[in-house]
Amino acid sequence: MKFIPTTLAQRKKYYQFQFDQKKVFDWFKKNKISPPQLCALDMGSETKIVLDKTKIGKLINFIPRHLQQKLIETLPEDVYYDRNRYTDPKVALKKLAFKESFSDLNFLGQELAFDIDANNFDCSCIDVCEKCIAKAQRNSLKVGKKLEEQFSRIGYGYSGRGMHVHVFDKRAFSLSIKERQDINTTMRSFGIDPWVSRGRIRLMRLPFSLNGLVSRIVVPLSADEVETFNPLTDKRTIPTYSSSASSFLS
Ligand SMILES: [Zn+2]
Repeated sequence: MKFIPTTLAQRKKYYQFQFDQKKVFDWFKKNKISPPQLCALDMGSETKIVLDKTKIGKLINFIPRHLQQKLIETLPEDVYYDRNRYTDPKVALKKLAFKESFSDLNFLGQELAFDIDANNFDCSCIDVCEKCIAKAQRNSLKVGKKLEEQFSRIGYGYSGRGMHVHVFDKRAFSLSIKERQDINTTMRSFGIDPWVSRGRIRLMRLPFSLNGLVSRIVVPLSADEVETFNPLTDKRTIPTYSSSASSFLS
């Protein structure tokens, strides 16, 4: 499976014509959680394809008030949302002390989420192949099933090179790091990245953003869709880079 990184021109076309920030905010609404207070951009630390060379290797945190405009102006490689909830996001932005979030007075909680990277499996392929991705899909359902023992609102997503599992229950936002660790230990065999669900890593790829490492769109999925979703052919994940948004919809 050959993944090709995006060019700056492709990122620009995607964020100008195909990306719809309303879809992003509607996704949070639909899942009955408040929209992210902060988002973060990686301009191109992995691909080195970057508009502003001075920003290479830096993470740009911002309040996503004019999200689409920001993405068109900066053309990032990766777009993330912050799963943390703050009393005041401006204070969090000023401090930039996210590693100590859980002990900060400004911190209210964090969405519980799991990242299953197709890279985490033993396979004869060099990086990631179709088999690895299919395994990530199957494993995300196993993670979801286990979570259903404790929680009721589970969501899924294709990240471009693996899967996300989200827990939208309010109760999950207030879990301590220790409680998150305990859940992690029950998920160990499924290829999760434990640092994401443990709480220290607050960022997750933003739904409907473009994964610039692999040229795929991050796609939310329902539990019923996970197993049959085909990242090679599913129109929802393949950017068209067309300057006419309507041609994508037709
Ligand atoms: Zn493989």
